[in-house]
Amino acid sequence: MVSYKDLGLVNTREMFAKAVAGGYAIPAFNFNNMEQLQAIIQAAAETKSPVILQVSSGARKYANQTLLRYMAEGAVEYAKELGWEHPQICLHLDHGNSFELCKSCVDMGFSSVMIDASSLPYEENIALTKQVVDYAHKYDVTVEAELGVLAGVEDEVSAEESHYTRPEEVIDFATRSGCDSLAISIGTSHGAYKFKPEQCKRDPETGRLVPPPLAFDVLHEIEKKLPGFPIVLHGSSSVPQEYVDIINAHGGKLPDAVGIPEEQLREASKSAVCKINIDSDSRLAMTAAIRLVFDEKPGEFDPRKYLGPARDEMKKLYMHKIINVLGSNGKAE
Ligand SMILES: [Zn+2]
Repeated sequence: MVSYKDLGLVNTREMFAKAVAGGYAIPAFNFNNMEQLQAIIQAAAETKSPVILQVSSGARKYANQTLLRYMAEGAVEYAKELGWEHPQICLHLDHGNSFELCKSCVDMGFSSVMIDASSLPYEENIALTKQVVDYAHKYDVTVEAELGVLAGVEDEVSAEESHYTRPEEVIDFATRSGCDSLAISIGTSHGAYKFKPEQCKRDPETGRLVPPPLAFDVLHEIEKKLPGFPIVLHGSSSVPQEYVDIINAHGGKLPDAVGIPEEQLREASKSAVCKINIDSDSRLAMTAAIRLVFDEKPGEFDPRKYLGPARDEMKKLYMHKIINVLGSNGKAE
């Protein structure tokens, strides 16, 4: 048993309370390799933003859970070395799908876990969430639950169609499950292809897809039922078109990739939405930077010469999200 407190990590309780009260959101960035982690910590340290490091089940398979835990521990020390005196870093399990998995993460030093039982019938979702909450709270680990279904593909999580969260269920769900935060479905979606072209309009000038707006009415209904309760948005990458263009101009093929417009995420951050998950955008930044090097310098074979620029590009992206979209800069001085 390793306590996250001994690793210098924090849970989400205080982060979220402050974010809801302050009208901003905490970035939750997925990571599975060193360059990504360096970029996240550099961006958070430079902007003094609280940050959530997310580990998906795909990341655990790819990089090994134990190694990721030690990397997160190293990240706290690295942040201090960068001059961030009191780093607020949370290590979070993204989309846990069983009690056993959540328990093993709590036991090995995660400070927060998500139990995603949203594909189960309502009562089973409550029961499984409550089982995880009862265990995690013994160790002061916070728990995110999900109600409603997001469309799209994210590692092993996929669903054909989305179902918006039903506001009439949230009070009962939050009370009986005891969860600390709730991921809801209001039209965000996992992956770089969040919407099919037929769901979108097409901008006549640029030819780009314009996605349907998020269901802010559902969000506001939920907020009214659960005032001040931390709400989480998954599948909230914006799929920056400049990266898609670079990728497509240098040998890639991402036709009609489209995400959630940043103005809408900025708007959501001002509400009870206090955690916004961003994964695909950093994948795109990394891929664009690497493709550019490969195309322009075909003789290059030192991984540091293409992973380095990829890291710099991801850092730029993370800082942009923190400062211009989520507004979490300066909240962890
Ligand atoms: Zn997700």
